[in-house]
Amino acid sequence: MFLGSISAPINTFFKKAGASIPKLARLGIFTIADLLRHYPRDWEDRKTKVPIKDFEKSAVCTSVTVVAREFSGYGANRFMKVYVKDEEGHPDSHAVLMFFKINNRSWIEKQLVVDSKINIYGKFKYRANEIQSSAFDYELFSSSESFGKIMPIYPLTSKLAQKTLRRFVLNALQQFKDIENELPCEIIKKYDLLAKKDALRAIHYPLSFEELEKAKKTLIYEELFYLEVMIAKRALERKKIKTQLNDKEIKDNDFSALQKQLIQRLPFTLTKGQIDAVKEINNDMKSPLVPMARLLQGDVGSGKTLVSFLAALNALQEGQAVIMAPTELLARQHAENAVRILEPLGIKIAYLTGNIKAKGRKELLNNLASGEIDIAVGTHALFSKDVVYKNLKLAVIDEQHRFGVTQRALITSKGEKTNLLMMSATPIPRTLALTVFGDMDISVIKDKPEGRLPVITHLAKESNAKKVYDFTRDELKKGRQAYFVYPLIDADLAGDEDIKAAVSMAEKLSKEIFKGFNVALVHSKIPDDEKNQIMNDFRSGKINILAATSVVEVGVDVPNATCMIIEHADRFGLSALHQLRGRVGRGKDQSYCFLVYSDEYSEAAKARLLVMHKNNDGFVIAEEDLKLRGPGQITGTVQSGYMELGIADPVRDIEELTRAREDVFSIMENDPDLLLSCNRVIARVLQEAPYFRDFII
Ligand code: ADP
Ligand code: MG
Repeated sequence: MFLGSISAPINTFFKKAGASIPKLARLGIFTIADLLRHYPRDWEDRKTKVPIKDFEKSAVCTSVTVVAREFSGYGANRFMKVYVKDEEGHPDSHAVLMFFKINNRSWIEKQLVVDSKINIYGKFKYRANEIQSSAFDYELFSSSESFGKIMPIYPLTSKLAQKTLRRFVLNALQQFKDIENELPCEIIKKYDLLAKKDALRAIHYPLSFEELEKAKKTLIYEELFYLEVMIAKRALERKKIKTQLNDKEIKDNDFSALQKQLIQRLPFTLTKGQIDAVKEINNDMKSPLVPMARLLQGDVGSGKTLVSFLAALNALQEGQAVIMAPTELLARQHAENAVRILEPLGIKIAYLTGNIKAKGRKELLNNLASGEIDIAVGTHALFSKDVVYKNLKLAVIDEQHRFGVTQRALITSKGEKTNLLMMSATPIPRTLALTVFGDMDISVIKDKPEGRLPVITHLAKESNAKKVYDFTRDELKKGRQAYFVYPLIDADLAGDEDIKAAVSMAEKLSKEIFKGFNVALVHSKIPDDEKNQIMNDFRSGKINILAATSVVEVGVDVPNATCMIIEHADRFGLSALHQLRGRVGRGKDQSYCFLVYSDEYSEAAKARLLVMHKNNDGFVIAEEDLKLRGPGQITGTVQSGYMELGIADPVRDIEELTRAREDVFSIMENDPDLLLSCNRVIARVLQEAPYFRDFII
């Protein structure tokens, strides 16, 4: 039996688990398999003896004898001191165990009588001439379970005791002893991995730290192996069908009638990158068998939105399209653009976010279900349970990296063979892209719309801020607009008085620095209606200056804005700075970005901002960002972002990942139906106990 097949609910095995069931559920543990896959976050060494005299070096772990007891306090506050000594015969071999509120735990008093022998584990401190501890574990010699072992420490939720979880896991390990290997035996041999049942036992209760390392190695490899199996399966299937299609069909490189109409009405011509991307998309969507799965990468300002509109027009020949954005601000902007550009072609657009009120929403949902609406633009609300489409042909995900783990299954379940187009300005390191988007096709827009001048970026010390303001004033007088971005909404709230924040600076910009110009404030706490109004007024030019937090980081598009002033620029990451800078340089006029930084800023940190001064290319900046931040930080993003695995981490374990990928692709290319005896196990796992229930992108 595979681990994943042990789908029996916890309570069928642990009759007395009753009260723990909801607590386990909160940890995502419902079945025995979930329980055994709840790996420890750390391990406690109760195997290596540490005598009391070494209490300053690490936790004490030793056998002791009770030599005396002392009671103080009254009633609920009565407490007991238990004096113990170990066998070292050292002056520092005596210690004191503190038991507070002993009245509630009278059994302890009965257990720990003078001369009783116990094992203790805990951190001790020198206090009042004694070596004391109030945070320790003890077990009577006669019934000691954990001493002499390496004990697991599990991630917990409130109220579930470490002990309880340990007992469940230990029991489960004892009951399910013959769990089968999921890796082909040759792979296990090749890397000298443990058998699955041994790895499982050893990850929870390792006999030694060497064995623990081996268990980790085994489970990490197995996880990455099956991740790659899923990717390889898809990739190879797509490849097969595609080659069949290409043999039969000659590529038709023309645009559809609707697409041509839109292109004719545009005040500009498409860039080569846009044309190529649309053609690739058109081709993908022609296939009746394989839905499109394409990632469109293009730097900020490269015109991805228009490509998504053209893709949507293609989808309308057969059904509907949705365009999803990560924030309401951006969704709204896309919806307004769609109305402006597409409605004149007779296309019905709807805007759907979580904020739409009940009545309007109901009508909207009806129109989506009946097919009355052609294109829906919105936030993730587009994929809420109650939203039904008549015939969803295309889902566009803008700023894909913002969505974190996007479940392809969820999106494509809204239609039959729904085509998927993901768009991102954030370049992903190649190795990671191979894993996460391993079965996707990638289009890259390398060029920018014609006539765009690269944004000129200046670094400015805070003491020179006045010069920046003067320069900006001249631009405003020419009729241009400006963004001022701050790291915080309100400095008071952060308890940091020296820092300029959006709220107070908006006031200052309006009343002092730029008197006579219209200044507005946007940040995440401003109600949506108000935010929309402000953005509309900024777009139409009624507002000259927008003071903001990084809410304007993503996607906002106002071509007449030519100045981006980022104060306390040192507090932003390079990628965020690049995104922010991408808000200007969107029209024909020369644009400027000022990175204002504190006078005390270190040279090393200034070097970071210089990267922005020297480079305009998002890919280069992202690479520099990776170098400067180091893998630790990236790991964080990856974990909260692209994928959630159990024990593996695709960035930390990049070597294993690469090996797993090579192994899997070589197996599946040579034996695509997994018929060879050593590979059959893979087919069985996929069928009987799929490793990833909701396979991620
Ligand atoms: P991003 O790729 O960052 O999402 P947008 O789609 O927001 O970029 O496009 C940026 C701006 O460029 C928009 O104002 C858009 O109308 C304009 N634009 C798009 N394509 C072209 C083009 N081929 N020529 C000129 N301007 C274009
Ligand atoms: Mg965009």
